[in-house]
Amino acid sequence: MEKLFFGTAGTPLGSKGTDSISGIRKVHELGLGCMELEFVRGVKMGEKTALEVGKAAKELDVKLSVHAPYYINLNAEGEKLYASRERIMDSARIGHICGAKSVVIHAAFYQGQPKRDVYERVRNQFAGMCGELRDEGVDMTLRVETMGRGSQFGSLEEVLEITEVEGVLPCIDFSHLHAINGRNNSEEEFAQILAKVEDKLGREGLNDMHIHVSGIKYSEKGEKNHLVFEESDFNYRELSKVFSDFAIKGLVICESPNLETDALKLKKEYDRKHENS
Ligand SMILES: [Zn+2]
Repeated sequence: MEKLFFGTAGTPLGSKGTDSISGIRKVHELGLGCMELEFVRGVKMGEKTALEVGKAAKELDVKLSVHAPYYINLNAEGEKLYASRERIMDSARIGHICGAKSVVIHAAFYQGQPKRDVYERVRNQFAGMCGELRDEGVDMTLRVETMGRGSQFGSLEEVLEITEVEGVLPCIDFSHLHAINGRNNSEEEFAQILAKVEDKLGREGLNDMHIHVSGIKYSEKGEKNHLVFEESDFNYRELSKVFSDFAIKGLVICESPNLETDALKLKKEYDRKHENS
C-alpha cells in the first residue's frame, strides 16, 4: 500500500442508500480512503453486484476489504467445519471480484481445548484454504483478527505466528487487544504491538497493515460491545501518533457505532501528527 488509508466498517451511516455502492460514494465524498464490505451475516452478494461494486471502487479509488461471516469456527468438526471453510472461501471469491485484497476472519473458539492443539488445527485449515484459493487464481490475503475475549482464538502471538502459512497476515484489532485485559491503551503499549509486528514480518509487514479500531466497552471477561470514542476510554489519539511514528501503511477500519464520525476523527489526528513529523 502506498500510504495509510482510513475508512468504515460497512456503508457509512450518512450514505444515500444502505448498499455498498452508495457506501463507496460516501466514503469518497467524506475524503476517506477505504471501506470494509461486511459479509458478517453471510455472503449474500452475487457476482454481478460484486463486479459493479469493484467498478465503483476503482473509479473513485476507494480501497476495499471484506469481513467474513461471524459464524466461523475452524476448530469445529464435520459439517460445521466445512461450512466455516465455505464461508471464508466465498468471502474471498466475492471479495476478489470486488477488487478487495484481504478477508478478515474471526478464526475459531478454543472450546476448552489446549491452545497449542487448536493452533495446529487452525493453521492446517488456513494452509488448505490458501492452497485452494491459489489454485483457483483468487489472489486474496486471509487476515486472522486479534480477538477481544479469552474464549476466542486470536492472541497477538497467535495471529503473528500463523503468518507461517503463505497467504495469511494479521488483522490487528487494537480495541480488542485493549478489551481483553484492560491494558494496551498507551503510546508505549501501542508501540510494543507494532514492534512485535515488525519483529515477525519486517518493514514489509508494517507496509501492509490491516487494522480495526473502535471505542470499546469491556469487563474482566473481555469485550462487551463497541462504543464511540468519546464514550470510551480508548486512547485513539496516542494510537494515531504511533501509526505516524512507525510510518505504517495499509487500511484502518473504524468499527465505532458512528462509523464515519470516528473514522474522520482518527484520520484528522493522524494527519495532524503526520504532517508535523
Ligand atoms: Zn472482526
